[in-house]
Amino acid sequence: MHEENNVDVLVIGAGPSGTIASSIIKQAGYTVQVVEKMLFPRFVIGESLLPRCMEALEEAKFLDAVKAKAFQQKDGAKFVMNDGAICDFNFNQQYTQGWDWTWQVPRSEFDKVLADECEKMGVPISYETEVTDIKIYNDHSITTVKKAVGTTETIRAKFIVDGSGYGRVIPRLFGLERPSSLPPRKTIFCHMSDPKRAENYEPDRIIVYVYNKTTWVWIIPFSNGNTSLGFVGDPDFFDQFNGDITQQYQQMIASVPYLQERFGDAVLQWEQPRQLQSWSVTTDKFYGDGFVLTGNVTEFLDPVFSSGVTLAAVSAQLAAKLVIKHLKGETVDWDSEYMKVMQSGVEVFRTYVNGWYNGDLYKIFFAKDPDPKIKAQICSVLAGYVWDQSNPFVKSHEKNVRTLAHFLETHNTAH
Ligand SMILES: Cc1cc2nc3c(=O)[nH]c(=O)nc-3n(C[C@H](O)[C@H](O)[C@H](O)COP(=O)(O)OP(=O)(O)OC[C@H]3O[C@@H](n4cnc5c(N)ncnc54)[C@H](O)[C@@H]3O)c2cc1C
Repeated sequence: MHEENNVDVLVIGAGPSGTIASSIIKQAGYTVQVVEKMLFPRFVIGESLLPRCMEALEEAKFLDAVKAKAFQQKDGAKFVMNDGAICDFNFNQQYTQGWDWTWQVPRSEFDKVLADECEKMGVPISYETEVTDIKIYNDHSITTVKKAVGTTETIRAKFIVDGSGYGRVIPRLFGLERPSSLPPRKTIFCHMSDPKRAENYEPDRIIVYVYNKTTWVWIIPFSNGNTSLGFVGDPDFFDQFNGDITQQYQQMIASVPYLQERFGDAVLQWEQPRQLQSWSVTTDKFYGDGFVLTGNVTEFLDPVFSSGVTLAAVSAQLAAKLVIKHLKGETVDWDSEYMKVMQSGVEVFRTYVNGWYNGDLYKIFFAKDPDPKIKAQICSVLAGYVWDQSNPFVKSHEKNVRTLAHFLETHNTAH
């Protein structure tokens, strides 16, 4: 074991939060080193982005490289009820001024573009390098990493950004993990060919299909012709399907006429579908002496409104600016300048996630004559503009969602 590196900032994880933070800090003139457990390209779920993340990609100077990959443009989100009712949100009709489009991306490719751009900027990324221990001292930290070949190294850094996603390195090592208030949910998903797409041609939006009160399906078309198709629900929902995971997945598709029609003859692009369970997590604190947590390490709620990568990108953007401020010797109030800001955005999404699973949002989304002004305000939330306090459906999110759902129900205009 030997001390190999001495950097200003060590970034753990080369997902979107790690690479966005790295780029912004590097641009300010500091030395940055990324350590990444996997070899890229690697699979990770989270394929439907929100327009708000474009601001972070722009500040990290990643936009041109991502544009060059010609990923599928995303202009909105369409919610389809199992009885055929439709609610279509177009981001160009949103209330908040800002980006009105984004992308739908196979994350293995997208994350690799961001990571490669970082390396071009002079940020070294050590792949197959896993953080196993961190010791924090007065003005620096010593991080121990294990390489795939079995050797161990240490890295000395003035500051650490933990963007390790589901790895949750610092919360695990420092005992900061807390159980989520959300019930555990499960998903089974796969990338599929989409031979009938021409007939159902709507590749520029995610479709969220309401299977039943607690179960929904994502349909995310990619520009390579394939589509990501995933079922999300209570773990019990999946018990009714038999056989191996491929057979279960095919039975789920066959149980929805719309899906059977479109994907009945489709070919699985992986050997078999994948499954995940109990992904909601939270953390005591988003910062500490010598470190800040970004992206999924802070809190992840639920995939229904595709908020994960956007929260990862925005947290990385904000954290990077504060790390720069700290390295300049200025005082940072991490609680008010970082944690409370990020939590306020997460809380907005929490209201909408809760409203989705308790049925309030069905009443609103599928109401008979939706008010265009309110629809535009909700559209901004779905575009990720959850910090715009001029939007009543951000500022008083919980009250306004509950009140509107109740009003629609009592006036018999709810779905
Ligand atoms: C079922 C499901 C569906 C989802 N759908 C969407 C969606 O449509 N849109 C969306 O925006 N989000 C979605 N998400 C959320 C999305 O997956 C995450 O929010 C997003 O990937 C977070 O990015 P990140 O940069 O924080 O972490 P990640 O993308 O997870 O990157 C973290 C990196 O850290 C590395 N790492 C882990 N441990 C270590 C270690 N010890 N040492 C070094 N490196 C390490 C990992 O290998 C990884 O590459 C979904 C989540 C789930 C569960």
